[in-house]
Amino acid sequence: MNREPTCILGGGLSALSLAHFLEGSSVIFEKEDRLGGLCRSFETGGVCHDIGPHIFFSRDKEVLEFLTSLTPMNRLRRSNKIFYRGRFVKYPFENELSALPDADRDWCLETFIDNPYRDYPAENMAAFFYKTFGEGITRAYLEPYNRKIWKFEPALMDTQMVERIPNPPPEDIIASARGESTEGYLHQLHFSYPERGGTGSIIRSLAGKSRVRLDVRLSSPLEKVRVNPGGGFRVTAGGETGDYSRLVSTIPVHELLPRLDPPPPPEVRSALEKLKYNSIHVTIVQTARHSLGDNLAVLVPRPDISFHRVTRLDYLGENYRRPGVDTLMAEITFRPGDRFDLPEEEIAEMVAADLDRLGFAPRSGIKLASTRTFKYAYVIYDLDHRKNTDTVLSWLRSIGIESAGRFAAFEYINMNTAVEMARTCARRINDELRT
Ligand SMILES: Cc1cc2nc3c(=O)[nH]c(=O)nc-3n(C[C@H](O)[C@H](O)[C@H](O)COP(=O)(O)OP(=O)(O)OC[C@H]3O[C@@H](n4cnc5c(N)ncnc54)[C@H](O)[C@@H]3O)c2cc1C
Repeated sequence: MNREPTCILGGGLSALSLAHFLEGSSVIFEKEDRLGGLCRSFETGGVCHDIGPHIFFSRDKEVLEFLTSLTPMNRLRRSNKIFYRGRFVKYPFENELSALPDADRDWCLETFIDNPYRDYPAENMAAFFYKTFGEGITRAYLEPYNRKIWKFEPALMDTQMVERIPNPPPEDIIASARGESTEGYLHQLHFSYPERGGTGSIIRSLAGKSRVRLDVRLSSPLEKVRVNPGGGFRVTAGGETGDYSRLVSTIPVHELLPRLDPPPPPEVRSALEKLKYNSIHVTIVQTARHSLGDNLAVLVPRPDISFHRVTRLDYLGENYRRPGVDTLMAEITFRPGDRFDLPEEEIAEMVAADLDRLGFAPRSGIKLASTRTFKYAYVIYDLDHRKNTDTVLSWLRSIGIESAGRFAAFEYINMNTAVEMARTCARRINDELRT
């Protein structure tokens, strides 16, 4: 067994899972002063919350068990609604068409049954929506909501993400228009959430489990990776320099590539520049009253409202409640220079005004509105995403750097897939270590 530590860049869930599954020792360099990345939790107004609500689900039983065994969990039923023309419609939209105004319900049903787009190829996200759901459901909800969260035109996005959506059974949709309740996306109907401490609690548990074989350097941003011509890497992070024969990056490719020496060739730099992602503002609002009902989250497709989703943190369990107030979380995605690229105080004010405008929470009842902004939130699957990502990652592989994680592999992955990706990467390294 080769005993040299593996060098891991970044200290989020992917890095910690990797360290956990690796048989040898590892050292993590994390730029922040604590571990967790997008799985960190924060406290605002006395309530612990994540960067967007991190609910746990997975089709892979082993991974789900791994994540949910890290800390005691509440098991909850997902109850999400879509706010459409002043009404709360159950998510997924097509499973409660009877909740729409009559004319819209008939439009959605008729254009689903008699769908002229059904035989066309699903060449992009918009074409997939029209083909699978018809014009009504697409125009009423899918297109405006996706435009809002991605800040990108669905016709210019590819189908990598949406092709996992199952074809809705026509009888369910017809029944839903008649008023018979049906359920969609069954594997996400129930979810787990830490009893206390938010998603950050799984990070603390995971870091504790790997403690013996793991050396963590916090406040250690990567400064430079020198790729030695004969193999191996000289890594400088947080003012320290060390030599490693194995390097795995879990940090965003946009952070890694500019720090490589020698620098990437022009075609790789050009592919990197074309990889698009969204940042996010997460606003916590505490209010004396609201009208969101007994739901976890409400999705808002309306383009004139700043946030795309509001979540009730009280729903997540007793340790997320405060007497006398309800705590809401509103999310707004943005890219540099767009109309939501604003200071946190202005965003907090905008969210409070929009909650009032929608009738979700009157301005007079709002006790607190506070925003935090995170640079790397969502990978955008534009039409060239696959080509450009493959160019960057295959070049990194060619110089011996492995990539795992949401912005390192540049994929829209959730926690479960981050763990799966880290496990696959660890298995590959373990095999090498044994030979
Ligand atoms: C709004 C939102 C909601 C989400 N909701 C869910 C959900 O409900 N369920 C679910 O399963 N998943 C959810 N996710 C996805 C989940 O957060 C990610 O899949 C997971 O956290 C990815 O972990 P990671 O380690 O790959 O990346 P990250 O968490 O991004 O980790 C990368 C780490 O690298 C560090 N880093 C960056 N630059 C440097 C540098 N130069 N030097 C050193 N370190 C650096 C960062 O500080 C960070 O700690 C959500 C994500 C977002 C943004």
